[in-house]
Amino acid sequence: MQYDVIVIGSGPGGYVAAIRCAQLGLKTAVIEKYSTFGGTCLNVGCIPSKALLDTSEHYHNAAHNFANHGISLDSLKIDVKKMIDRKNDVIAQNTAGITFLFKKNKIDSFEGIGSFVDKNTIKIEKDGADAQEIKGKNIIIATGSKPTALPFLPIDKKRIITSTEALQLQEIPKSLIVIGGGVIGLELGSVYARLGSKVSVVEYAKSIIPTMDASLGKELQRVLKKQLGFEFFLGHKVTGATTKGKEVTVTAEDAKGNEVSFQGDYCIVAVGRTAYTEGLGLDNIGIKTEDRGNKISVDEHLQTSVEGVYAIGDVIKGAMLAHKAEDEGIFVAERIAGQKPHIDYNAIPGVVYTWPEVAAVGQTEEQLKEAGKKYKTGSFSFKASGRAKASGDTDGFVKVLADAETDEVLGVHMIGPRAADMIAEAVMALEYRASAEDIGRICHAHPTYTEAFKEAALAATDNRAIHA
Ligand code: FAD
Repeated sequence: MQYDVIVIGSGPGGYVAAIRCAQLGLKTAVIEKYSTFGGTCLNVGCIPSKALLDTSEHYHNAAHNFANHGISLDSLKIDVKKMIDRKNDVIAQNTAGITFLFKKNKIDSFEGIGSFVDKNTIKIEKDGADAQEIKGKNIIIATGSKPTALPFLPIDKKRIITSTEALQLQEIPKSLIVIGGGVIGLELGSVYARLGSKVSVVEYAKSIIPTMDASLGKELQRVLKKQLGFEFFLGHKVTGATTKGKEVTVTAEDAKGNEVSFQGDYCIVAVGRTAYTEGLGLDNIGIKTEDRGNKISVDEHLQTSVEGVYAIGDVIKGAMLAHKAEDEGIFVAERIAGQKPHIDYNAIPGVVYTWPEVAAVGQTEEQLKEAGKKYKTGSFSFKASGRAKASGDTDGFVKVLADAETDEVLGVHMIGPRAADMIAEAVMALEYRASAEDIGRICHAHPTYTEAFKEAALAATDNRAIHA
């Protein structure tokens, strides 16, 4: 065999798996169909969306919040081209970083579409050129996902677009319709709402971010309405979309079954993502799939139905998140090297990078109720936080859910300033099975937003919050 491991796909799952394999002394190759490494996350996902969220947040603060601090600005304007160029530069820096790391770790890389010839042989095809074949003892499939399309709603990539096109608009829409009130729709909606677009969110479920603790969606909806003028049409089933010139019309059925329509310059379809397995030739070696053929089936060691072939990240079950894909990449690499790694799927945080940010880990109140688990709850509002008052970010709260008998932290749900970073402490608490009182007794620097977590934990312990 030429290689110990061949990784197909260079997203956060694939590139991290490859680097860990190389660290463990395994001769490793990566196949990537695009000319840059990093997959969805670095090229059209996490990183570019955060670059635009940061630009739009600066603009929004300058337009609406600087005056509260006594800072006045004349003739504020946004240069869309510069914003997009900066975002592209951020992508380029990150993808170049992966090229550097592959070289540093002596990982061979191949550009092209990889497909199975047999369980150890991968064919690489690029632009009709003669196919090349490489052989490996182990194969890791890390081919990720693509935006889910609705069969009755054709995406023209001009006016009816996915997140990928929404990351490179050349103008600020006057009005933007977002189909889907999940993470991606609300993040991209926030970018353009902050820059002046009127944003309408049409969502089938009765609440936004419906998989998170219900209290978070309720608060986020209130704040996005108040701060950015978002309009929400929940319980609406989208039935179609058409374009006429520069106008998009989206039709939907409201909760009572009435036909309604929405007009905008653009419509972002953000109804989720679907695992990507096209062209892999899974049938050639009989790799089993699940979820109507959408996901690759794996066992508890992330091995597929074929020995020596593993799958990780968005292409298998579980949260479609970059850090979940990364952890699975490390897990499989260590497994191949004969180690006994472990992933605690209950301690994988979920984050929404709106402002305020939303972040959570562990069980939601709804899940605990459904499981019939007895729990205590403690909340602390950022309105009572000295740090939040100083920065003017008093929307939101931290909620701690703890076992009623043992006081073990079961779930932490927060919406507030820098929640995306603050959740790390809660992840640690879950991982080390801390009690709410443990958190309440840990010294937190003052004044910081993290004190809200300590106070919520004290509230959960015995209603002992100091500043509530
Ligand atoms: P991907 O990143 O999808 O990478 C798969 C790679 O495989 C791609 O490069 C693809 O070209 C390649 N490939 C596919 N088939 C083949 C083949 N046959 N041969 C060779 N190469 C192939 N997650 C977060 O955790 N935080 C965020 O803030 C976040 N923001 C997001 C924002 C947006 C707009 C989007 C769309 C997603 C976001 N995500 C975020 C999700 C995150 O991007 C994915 O969960 C993550 O990229 C999955 O990693 P992966 O390695 O499984 O697959």
